Amino acid sequence: MLVSAKEMLKNALKGKYAVGQFNINNLEWTKAVLLAAQECSSPVILGVSEGAGKYMGGYKTVVGMVNGMLECLNITVPVCLHLDHGGYNGAKACIEAGFSSVMYDGSHAPIEENIANTKELVGICNAKGLSLEAEVGSIGGEEDGVVGKGECADPKECGEIARLGVSMLAAGIGNIHGAYPDDWPGLSFETLRAVKKEVGDVPLVLHGGTGISEEMIKEAISLGVAKINVNTECQWAFQKATRQYIEDGKDLVGKGFDPRKLLAPGFEAIKVVVREKIKLFGSEAAVDS
Ligand SMILES: [Zn+2]
Repeated sequence: MLVSAKEMLKNALKGKYAVGQFNINNLEWTKAVLLAAQECSSPVILGVSEGAGKYMGGYKTVVGMVNGMLECLNITVPVCLHLDHGGYNGAKACIEAGFSSVMYDGSHAPIEENIANTKELVGICNAKGLSLEAEVGSIGGEEDGVVGKGECADPKECGEIARLGVSMLAAGIGNIHGAYPDDWPGLSFETLRAVKKEVGDVPLVLHGGTGISEEMIKEAISLGVAKINVNTECQWAFQKATRQYIEDGKDLVGKGFDPRKLLAPGFEAIKVVVREKIKLFGSEAAVDS
């Protein structure tokens, strides 16, 4: 059964580790993440962007696929199905479809609008036992057209949003989605410390987990980050393994064209990344499996 992220992140803060959010794109992705988490006895968050939800055939399709796998693959670790960077309408649609958690990203809106929408969605989520992630200070990346150095959130605004009762808060601390530019100055721990002071016990979320050094990840966790989002790294691993399979001409041998064979190396590569991240984030063996 899907669970919200509330309990798992509360435990993560207490245990000084972080739970990974791995974005899913299709059946192979979903199965790889679930099996790796189960093998590692780790809680896990499946992230679904609005675009990925549409790609997979709609939010209800995603809910059906994930619930089916939990049962048929005997997944017993806590699993949260979470909308990543949702708009107001997307968040409502996912709540309706059976997601156990949503992110409402109002970071591009004026702070008053972000507060009003976050507040309304917190009420809906609380009534249904779901978790809600809010965002303050937009996280840089390709979707903005330019790869900036990553914005830093205003700690006071973080405090305001945290006090609305959100389950977790994403605050920009210089992090970026996708690849980091060579001249990236690194995470702003000064901002992270200031944000933590304002938000108290609300778990913080680090987006753009691909390409942040292990040292910085560990320091971020020690300063209150309890959820780390990983997306691009799984995509690169899948791409690399699939390319290798084709370049080696394996699709031309015997039944190598069978999609179950063709996609297998990429599937295994995703599992390797997920296992590595779970170990790095410290959530391995955090629960019974
Ligand atoms: Zn993000």
